[in-house]
Amino acid sequence: MSAPTQEDEGASSPPAPHALEVRDLSLRIGGAQILDGISFTVPAGQIVGVIGPNGAGKTTLFNLVSGVHQPSGGQVLLSGRDVTRSSISRRALAGLGRTFQTSSLFPGLSVHENARLAAQVRQGGSVSLVRFPRRTDPASRRADQLLEEVGLAHRSGHRAGDLPHGDKRKLEIAMLLATDPQVVLLDEPMAGVASGDVPGLTEVIRGLHRDHGCTVLMVEHHMEVLLGLVERVAVLHFGHLLAIDTPEAVMADPTVQSAYLGEAV
Ligand code: ADP
Ligand code: MG
Repeated sequence: MSAPTQEDEGASSPPAPHALEVRDLSLRIGGAQILDGISFTVPAGQIVGVIGPNGAGKTTLFNLVSGVHQPSGGQVLLSGRDVTRSSISRRALAGLGRTFQTSSLFPGLSVHENARLAAQVRQGGSVSLVRFPRRTDPASRRADQLLEEVGLAHRSGHRAGDLPHGDKRKLEIAMLLATDPQVVLLDEPMAGVASGDVPGLTEVIRGLHRDHGCTVLMVEHHMEVLLGLVERVAVLHFGHLLAIDTPEAVMADPTVQSAYLGEAV
């Protein structure tokens, strides 16, 4: 098999940057080293799982990548651009989207109103909570489209706070999609979701990657779900990155086995 040559791609074109790159990322709070020298890259369009025991630093890693916290050291790059010092909103404009470990919906608003607000933000118009927007309003139509895509069209008029967990997560993903993200961080999307709703939500997450070309980083304890979705798994342990590799290689790694998989989790 012959690898593509420089000529094939044009001698002057540099290699495509990784969708996400984390270089020697650390966070120290008080005397505690929460994350220590984390480095990895994620090529565009890949889904990577993040695992590790509670307190390993998974959510903190997402907080550093999304700009909730500033690192003590190291860098975060999105498509080759250093965003380490950029605000959360600038990173969102650069294509980063995330969901939180706890739900971030407006519970008192309807499913459609939540989705429409997200679409309005994307379209740069003023955000309005008018109860009866015109049905032809572009944000309203985009909301309809996204709810259809995640399988929530039939819940459009329901109060978001009354949805079962699985549907709340689907709505959050619809709202995320409204922002056209390139890199998506999902923190424990299956947490609290009834087992019957897991396959549907898994399909919605698969769609982020398959239909939208998103690069996805997801923390998930539900190993069956994770292994069915991801191309690589990153293992965090006490703030260190133990391994990042294919699920098979990670499971076979003796360091991972003794540090994490050998434990009762
Ligand atoms: P995980 O998501 O893997 O369960 P976290 O990233 O939430 O772990 O937490 C990692 C460690 O950092 C934990 O020991 C936690 O107590 C600590 N931690 C997280 N945020 C803070 C903070 N703002 N101040 C002090 N300690 C923190
Ligand atoms: Mg967490």
